[in-house]
Amino acid sequence: MRPERLNPLFADVASLAGVGPAAARALERLEIRRVRDLLFHFPIGWRHTSRVEGLGNAREGERVSLSVDILSHEPSRGRGPFRITADDGYGIGLILAFFGPKGSGLANRFPVGSAVTVAGRLELWNGRFQMIHPELVRAADSEGGADWAEPVYPLTEGFTSRRLATLTQAALEKLPELPEWIEPSLLGARGWPGFGPALHSVHGEPESASARDRLAYDELLAAQLAWALVRARRRRKRGTPLQGDGRLSRPLLAALPFRLTGAQTQAISEIAGDLAAPHAMLRLLQGDVGAGKTLVALMALLLAVEAGAQGAFLAPTDLLARQHMATLQKLIGDLPVRLGFLSGREKGKAREALLADLAEGRIDILIGTHALFSADVNYRNLGLAVVDEQHRFGVAQRMMLAEKADRPPHLLVMTATPIPRTLALANYGEMDISKLGERPPGRQPVDTRVVALGRIEEVLDGLGRHLAAGRQAYWVCPLLEPSEEEVEGAPTPAVTRAEMLRKRFGNSVALVHGKLPGPERDREMARFQSGEAKLLVATTVIEVGVDVPNASLMLIESAERFGLAQLHQLRGRVGRGSDKSVCLLLRGETLSETARERLKMMRATDDGFAIAEADLKLRGAGELLGTRQSGDEGFRLATPEQVQRFIETARDDARLLVERGGGNSLSGPRGEAARLLLYLFEKDAAIATLRGG
Ligand code: ADP
Ligand code: MG
Repeated sequence: MRPERLNPLFADVASLAGVGPAAARALERLEIRRVRDLLFHFPIGWRHTSRVEGLGNAREGERVSLSVDILSHEPSRGRGPFRITADDGYGIGLILAFFGPKGSGLANRFPVGSAVTVAGRLELWNGRFQMIHPELVRAADSEGGADWAEPVYPLTEGFTSRRLATLTQAALEKLPELPEWIEPSLLGARGWPGFGPALHSVHGEPESASARDRLAYDELLAAQLAWALVRARRRRKRGTPLQGDGRLSRPLLAALPFRLTGAQTQAISEIAGDLAAPHAMLRLLQGDVGAGKTLVALMALLLAVEAGAQGAFLAPTDLLARQHMATLQKLIGDLPVRLGFLSGREKGKAREALLADLAEGRIDILIGTHALFSADVNYRNLGLAVVDEQHRFGVAQRMMLAEKADRPPHLLVMTATPIPRTLALANYGEMDISKLGERPPGRQPVDTRVVALGRIEEVLDGLGRHLAAGRQAYWVCPLLEPSEEEVEGAPTPAVTRAEMLRKRFGNSVALVHGKLPGPERDREMARFQSGEAKLLVATTVIEVGVDVPNASLMLIESAERFGLAQLHQLRGRVGRGSDKSVCLLLRGETLSETARERLKMMRATDDGFAIAEADLKLRGAGELLGTRQSGDEGFRLATPEQVQRFIETARDDARLLVERGGGNSLSGPRGEAARLLLYLFEKDAAIATLRGG
């Protein structure tokens, strides 16, 4: 239950004076539903108004306030404005112009012969000073007599910034006195204000960098506390220590045609250490495309099997799961390891038999899709779950996996997308991280070029030569089918492109996309993997994981439509064999500035981590991870730059606070305060992990 003192903050915005149903709906569009949301809706800038004494002291373009004498009214003619002429008291004229509907209202507000104070942006019109729609500054307004600044809020239709400012001031009045949750020494070292004063400062005065930092830190600390609690909860449960004896992993390594990279060896030893520990592993394996994550996963699975446990290997799509199955089968060869496969497509008798084998321990490693963790799938002895291409396996699923067993299995999560360390901390804060920064030796960088779509004939000729030489290629399109209406400049869909390519290259063209029925997609994929098909036309279903070393040409049509991370993933499909590989980015006629930047970045580097950092800058953190869909962490207050600066401190601080509470409570005055912080940022699931919470 939320502590009562926070109730005023969680009251509906409609409880504030002046917020009716229409206003509430407008606020809803800004995701402002409660008083708290209003307080967390920060200004994006400040509007300054300088008080001037006469226009002689003002410049064109400035926002000023001054007192003027009203001389005359000129009602509008045609589409022109209603004009009021005024004098600044020093003989310089000023026109106050009002467009749109007008009536007696103006005459009443600005009576001829009166002296009023107006505020607005000063413009020059026909050589005379003018203000369009100036504000009438009431004599009672204290700010009428001095310079002032007011916040500018991100807006929605139906709301002025000033109205939001007024509402926010009302919301600030509701702010209760709260205890401090930030470590006093940190607060002192950074010179940060308390939570309440920080909110007042952000909404009340310009130049409050330290207030913004503090509030960003609060948000990060809340998120990291939540992670720390999830982590502590998993650690409270005993895991099953798994100590492999090497009888499977050692012969496998000996049979490999290559040696492990240093990074692979390091990651495997970190994993082996975790597996042998008495609580369940929670480890994230980050590696760029082609870094060799699959082999690391297999080694981990073999260690678990050696120790007498079962392993599960989860891939995000049926296609990838099948490919992992094939890869593992090949690598395992004659070793006594029994593999099973389960996706949504296994049905009826075959599925029942498989489930029985699993429950009775006749399967050592089960490979498949999310079906691996359906309610009716029972393992005899699940010791390790490996989740590939983490992107689509969100926080909720991770927690569910822990809940399923009283002894949670060890968990190894692998990201296909290299993400900057700060984002890894933000999204996998409960985990330890291993990184494969180094790729297997002997890989040649992929030669990346940007080609205008107008030169497609040349490209097709080149493709023809490539295929004739016995090599394979991918052709990726952003869309699958033509849209209903013809849109000018729309990209060519995969289906249309495949048809066209078949006319030229015949039956050696395969087509896969998300809407193709499973068996058909497998058949097409198999044709390509076996080399029977030379050219694979696809939508982004091949984005992650597909591995065909003989494919050394990647064509991405309308490349400007893809995100950086996506382009990098796609390019990662080539450059896997010994041949020099090429990636052609076919671009449309018109490019936005960021699209141009993206393509430039792709040409400049193939370092996935560098690309991820650039992507973060171009797009912001939420988008990079597809915030909304996957349940990944997006921050409302903290900017990517603040995340960068503060997240490590927040992580350490949070883990310390939870450890102090013995891992299952938040104790002491700071612990109590931290509990409020969790509520404030709606980390309800994390609070539920607290004893008695
Ligand atoms: P990813 O990290 O993208 O999942 P994969 O595991 O698919 O990468 O590995 C890419 C390719 O590199 C595979 O063909 C794999 O067999 C090969 N590979 C993995 N480790 C090494 C190594 N140490 N030396 C050479 N090739 C390797
Ligand atoms: Mg992979």
